[in-house]
Amino acid sequence: MQFSSQLLENAVNEFAKLPGIGKKTALRLVLHLVKQDETLVAHFSNTIAKMRNEIKFCNRCYNISDTVTCNICSNPMRQQNTICVVENIRDVIAIENTQQFSGLYHVLGGVISPLDGLGPEQLTIEALVNRIQNEAIEEVIFALNPNIQGDTTIYYIGRMLKETNVKITTIARGIAFGGELEFADEMTLAKSISNRITVDHYISN
Ligand SMILES: [Zn+2]
Repeated sequence: MQFSSQLLENAVNEFAKLPGIGKKTALRLVLHLVKQDETLVAHFSNTIAKMRNEIKFCNRCYNISDTVTCNICSNPMRQQNTICVVENIRDVIAIENTQQFSGLYHVLGGVISPLDGLGPEQLTIEALVNRIQNEAIEEVIFALNPNIQGDTTIYYIGRMLKETNVKITTIARGIAFGGELEFADEMTLAKSISNRITVDHYISN
């Protein structure tokens, strides 16, 4: 792509570094900004810089936060004896959007994946185990992606919790709502059958 302006090219290159943004889209976004009032663009860039400078990770659950302890952890209405373990912050947002969970979270920052250089030390596993031992936690719900790495992580943490009497559960896995049996892979169908629930329970939910 040829540019008549180095300033324009620099801005396009910055936008193109964002995930999912190609050069063409980057150019469209930058040209949009060129047409905007200077104060609006200053506000835009200040908002991004301020977010990056001031954002924190909760000292208890590692969720993203404006304060030292996030607003979920510091909410007295949340069930303090249940922790939902997730891989990343997007998962917290997704589960919060369902409005079906009123406990606390713990963000691992990934799952154990030796091929990606991610071992237990790179994740917040130790902090999770400390929480379970010190916070009167009764249930730990694993809401990890259903794959080998997720299962390895559940197994690893489960072993560390053997000595505690905390209840360990995982979210149900199976056929997606609206999905069709014939298109489900074998593993999904197998998990759906082994994790079957009673119809009474299904209907009451
Ligand atoms: Zn928190």
